[in-house]
Amino acid sequence: MTEQNAESGTLDFKPRPFGNSVRGIPLEIYEPIGSKPSMLIISAIHGDENLGSVLISECLRSMQSQDLYAAVILSMNPDGILAGTRGNSNGVDLNRNYPTDNWKPDPVYYRNRPGEPQNIALSPGKRPGSEPETMALMELMHALKPYLVVSFHGFLACIDDPLSLDISKDIAGRTNMELVPDVGYKTPGSFGSWCAEQDIPIITYELPSLGIAELRKMHTPVIRDLLTGKYDSMLG
Ligand SMILES: [Zn+2]
Repeated sequence: MTEQNAESGTLDFKPRPFGNSVRGIPLEIYEPIGSKPSMLIISAIHGDENLGSVLISECLRSMQSQDLYAAVILSMNPDGILAGTRGNSNGVDLNRNYPTDNWKPDPVYYRNRPGEPQNIALSPGKRPGSEPETMALMELMHALKPYLVVSFHGFLACIDDPLSLDISKDIAGRTNMELVPDVGYKTPGSFGSWCAEQDIPIITYELPSLGIAELRKMHTPVIRDLLTGKYDSMLG
């Protein structure tokens, strides 16, 4: 018999549902037992950028539930993950659907690969906050009031934080990624813009375009520290 792996194949933490996707798939949050989380970690608001979810899940599965200090949403866009799409099943880019001053009704264009024309269109929604996923996350944020949000995306290989927090500097240093004040293009109606308007600091953690094995090496230790509260003392 081979030696047992410490990492469990199933995620035994019990999540709390806080809403549903357009297709009716539950949105779920994992929360610390008996304490209010300072930090909310979110992954895969873009359904085709879900390697962060895999890395975070692996960390959770190798931890005891009492060691979890952050609140975690492994999949903010279950429709997109199911279909392998960036948007939800209404074709809405959920990261452009928030009721912010800069929300725009124009289609959102993106590209799948660097160098390709940015010509794949998604909708920002019929109106700001039109999508159930958006409404559910806003409601959750009002209830949770986290001191910091860390949102996982791919694959721009940077830490995006307009406030340049110490925690961002530390993560950028540890992961050998650049700390930037924005991702280099406008993101009207993004969750980040909404958080900024609510005075909630948000770090956009853009994983690099690497295989899962390389991502594990560089990013799993950082993610584990985020989950287990090692960074909480750096929050104001
Ligand atoms: Zn993204």
